[in-house]
Amino acid sequence: MERDGENDGVDATLSALATEIADAERVVALTGAGVSVPSGIPPFRGESNGDGPDPVWNTHDPADFHRRRFDADPERFWTDRLSLRETLYGGGVEPNAAHEALATLEARGHLDALLTQNVDGLHAAAGSESVVELHGTSARVVCDRCGATQPADPVWERVREGERPPTCDCGGVLKPDVVLFGEPLPDEGFDRAQRAARRCAVFLAVGSSLTVRPAALLPEIAAESGGTLAVINLDPTEYDERADYDIRADATEALPALVAALDG
Ligand code: ZN
Repeated sequence: MERDGENDGVDATLSALATEIADAERVVALTGAGVSVPSGIPPFRGESNGDGPDPVWNTHDPADFHRRRFDADPERFWTDRLSLRETLYGGGVEPNAAHEALATLEARGHLDALLTQNVDGLHAAAGSESVVELHGTSARVVCDRCGATQPADPVWERVREGERPPTCDCGGVLKPDVVLFGEPLPDEGFDRAQRAARRCAVFLAVGSSLTVRPAALLPEIAAESGGTLAVINLDPTEYDERADYDIRADATEALPALVAALDG
């Protein structure tokens, strides 16, 4: 949106989209890493480009965070996870303008469900309520034996002090309440997401490359059910051809502009 000559096109597209959202019975959004990156959270994949932080998987080995590693060596899993956590959230992270805009859309009755691939908890922190965290949340840990969950922060304190792996009162090993490599998406969240995608009149895919399945199937479900598909992303996605609105822009600029257009 900062590029000269493209502003008018993006503005016109956003205002047409805003009109459609204002008239829509149900609107659903799906967010990916592109919504978290402006909060200072590095992307997981991609090229190092010099000005942003290195993609996480360029500096950490995804195999260290696989379910098999958790089962085989939970002590070292948690040690590596602590390092990963510092990389992701070390500077302390806050919701950005994209999170705020989505919370505003919901508060004004223009957003019925917010599906996210992100595990940083920033949508909830921004005040969004109808959030479906498809890959879980790093704000909680879950006992691998009894299934009880608890807030993650006090557990991270124990991990920093050397309790590795941290354990539940029942003696079971605690696990971050996120979907690890090698684990399926929880059925309940994905079922809710599929239902929301099927029923919506407008589906907004924001800051996601739409390549990580099964979450990437959701725009297709929405489009096949007759929903309008809008893609807001800095880079091309595989849905650009099929999208009714293909908006190549940063979510922190496009979403506040969309909220402003709805007000206008
Ligand atoms: Zn337990």
